[in-house]
Amino acid sequence: MTYLACDLGGTRLKIGVVRDGRVIAQTVEPALSHLGLAPRLPVLKEAWLRLLKDLKLELTDCSGASVAFPSLIDRKSGRILAVYGKFADSLDIDLRAWARTELGLPLAIENDARMAMIGEWQAGAGRGCDNLVMITLGTGLGVCAIIEGRILRGIHGQAGVLGGHLTVRYGGRLCTCGNLGCAESEASTAFLRQIAEASPDWECSSLRTLPLDYSHVFAQAAAGDACAVGLRDHSLLVWSSLVVNLIHAYDPEKVILGGGIMAGADQILPAIIEHVNRHAHTPWGKVQIIPSVLGDTAALVAGEWLLRETSDQ
Ligand SMILES: [Zn+2]
Repeated sequence: MTYLACDLGGTRLKIGVVRDGRVIAQTVEPALSHLGLAPRLPVLKEAWLRLLKDLKLELTDCSGASVAFPSLIDRKSGRILAVYGKFADSLDIDLRAWARTELGLPLAIENDARMAMIGEWQAGAGRGCDNLVMITLGTGLGVCAIIEGRILRGIHGQAGVLGGHLTVRYGGRLCTCGNLGCAESEASTAFLRQIAEASPDWECSSLRTLPLDYSHVFAQAAAGDACAVGLRDHSLLVWSSLVVNLIHAYDPEKVILGGGIMAGADQILPAIIEHVNRHAHTPWGKVQIIPSVLGDTAALVAGEWLLRETSDQ
């Protein structure tokens, strides 16, 4: 199957053409998500047409289009159910109708964390395993679960994908979702500045002179910066606690970790594995904690599975 794919992130549109589980052409456009979704649709269409032209393909060679979107999606209608400061106009846009009119193709759309998980399940780190949890460590914390070969969705589409909003610190920091002490509000890039500035060691930290992201936190912690050491250790404990919560909730055989923060996998994975082996209740054996293998392309590769599911509805 050949199809068009897009991962609509808050900062970048990852756009591709996929054939038989492989991205055969791709490009990136700025998301400009604060300006809304409608102005980006012609840009997306242009990018797809350009990629097809380079491949000497036509729209009629494609079976459909798939979109990964950073929100909750209604499975039956394909409509976007909520906005979180990005693409504020998206509740009023029917992407399936747009694709029919503009491309003459069916469109499948799903939450971006679910799409990343489906990609890893079908063609990446989760291949051959039907009991999986994936956590995307990045700007926010994306989560998805597959239980006995079925993607956990729930009646309102929010089961599983709110895993990053499980409470890990009782009475903790207020999250964008409204809850207190979510894993996301305690350890994610979106909240990193708030967390760092609350540290007693912030005033004399070398992090003040650097762009504040986890790569610098890990590097400065290794160099002995007290604020960075505190941030690193706190974040590792938050993510480890979240993994135990998700194992207790969803009974996976494997937990896949992906996202930009996983550039520091050599520090993250051993800490989480040690914590999980010590604290997760799994009398049947050990859960494997493994890195994603598809990276940025996981959500694009998921499109084939999702288009098949959508056409079966
Ligand atoms: Zn939250």
